[in-house]
Amino acid sequence: MTDVSIPLPKCQPLKILTGQKAIVTGGSSGIGKAVAIALGEAGADVVVNYHSNEEEANNVAQTITSAGSQALVVGADVSQEDQVQSMFRQAIDKFGTVDILVANAGLQQDAPLDEMTLKQWEKVISVNLTGQFLCAREAVREFKRRGVVEKVSCAAGKIICMSSVHEIIPWAGHVNYAASKGGIMQMMRTIAQEVAPFRIRVNSICPGAIRTPINSQAWNTQEAYNSLMKLVPYNRIGEPEDIGRAAAWLASDQADYITGASLLVDGGMCLYPGFAHGG
Ligand code: NAD
Repeated sequence: MTDVSIPLPKCQPLKILTGQKAIVTGGSSGIGKAVAIALGEAGADVVVNYHSNEEEANNVAQTITSAGSQALVVGADVSQEDQVQSMFRQAIDKFGTVDILVANAGLQQDAPLDEMTLKQWEKVISVNLTGQFLCAREAVREFKRRGVVEKVSCAAGKIICMSSVHEIIPWAGHVNYAASKGGIMQMMRTIAQEVAPFRIRVNSICPGAIRTPINSQAWNTQEAYNSLMKLVPYNRIGEPEDIGRAAAWLASDQADYITGASLLVDGGMCLYPGFAHGG
């Protein structure tokens, strides 16, 4: 059982987002990078938000430009209201509006409950949950101001929250992270309910185990990889491109009747693999 035996299937990107303007937070690495590139390849102009790695954000922007779309690199800490508002202003100044928000930025600061500091709890909640609230609020303000432009999209705007299988699966030693993702689930559903009459769609993607820096200890040795596969019935690790493709489709009019949904992209991780034999 190895990670190279089942490669990511090749797919030609479809131009399903032509003319749309997107913001992807945490777009300089991992899932955010793959999502920003996938949206760009699907025809959207993309704001690539970064927190610490401007150089890598510039590389992502260059890949998007090579695919024929425009890109703008904007540094902002998503947990800071003024920085989020400034990011949206810069996006609107450059591209005229925003049609798609992918609120992806997130982090982990793990510890057993009795060793977790208040600082660790607050840091994860402020980036993973408050950061998504701040970005979603600015996006909805812009979507409501502009309304539907039918030649661009049949929706006034689309928000995709990057959640996790841990909005469902409890995760010992990660109470701050699991609470942030459980919070995203109800935040997303509540916003979706509130803004559906404005033709604004709000959904989450719930990745399973995806090969990114956030969880490298879960896949960077063969032993760790094999152990991880016990949790993944589909028997391969997820690649960031798996999430990029899902995000491009979910943001497009092909998914127009979908709102308030949590889309699991997890190779079956939430299928209770421990029950496959017995139970
Ligand atoms: P990653 O560490 O590569 O990416 C996280 C990104 O968020 C980084 O670019 C980082 O700079 C950015 N970020 C952190 N704090 C920020 C802040 N205050 N402001 C703006 N940006 C900030 O890891 P990833 O796996 O690509 O994670 C992306 C998202 O996917 C996260 O929300 C994570 O919880 C979620 N996720 C990942 C996995 C996985 O297996 N990799 C599984 C489920 C969910």
